[in-house]
Amino acid sequence: MRGLQVERLRERVHAVPDFPSPGILFRDITPLLADAGAFGLCIDALAAPWQGAGVEAVCGIESRGFIFGAALAQRLGVGFVPLRKPGKLPPPLVEVEYQLEYGHDRLQAREGALVDGARTLIVDDVLATGGTLTAAHELVTRLGARTVGAGVVIELDALGGRARWPEDIPLHALLHY
Ligand code: AMP
Repeated sequence: MRGLQVERLRERVHAVPDFPSPGILFRDITPLLADAGAFGLCIDALAAPWQGAGVEAVCGIESRGFIFGAALAQRLGVGFVPLRKPGKLPPPLVEVEYQLEYGHDRLQAREGALVDGARTLIVDDVLATGGTLTAAHELVTRLGARTVGAGVVIELDALGGRARWPEDIPLHALLHY
């Protein structure tokens, strides 16, 4: 992306202090979604590294990863698979449990949702501590597919999430804070 385009996206991400809890600076991407040009730019930029790379499926992480992931899957001409929080998908399911700062959470997908060995791209809105994206990679692996890369709109550099992501799998972020 060119500098001006990065600035256009950056202007559409609002920083909201102390949401959803004190001390958290929440990055609100809803103004970006509401701007058709900026949203389109975002999907173009997420797709750019993967054009012609033989991606066979896109997995989006609930819930904002669905918005970017579904649009990206369409752009790449492949199917979309939602990775969901517990209680949303009917069985049979495959799941992973992962640590949060306090407690733990789970991500689930339909058994057989990905073809064996499918070259899969994982998408989310924000990379913070990296726990969610890394869990998504583990889930894709348990589903029998192969993670070829990940794309996020925003990477919060200070939280060090990238260090948890496998070094040999490309991880692209459009905006850094
Ligand atoms: P993490 O597992 O710590 O990398 O957190 C990533 C997940 O939490 C993503 O699905 C984000 O949607 C959400 N998230 C974490 N931190 C923020 C933040 N500062 N602003 C918006 N979303 C966040």
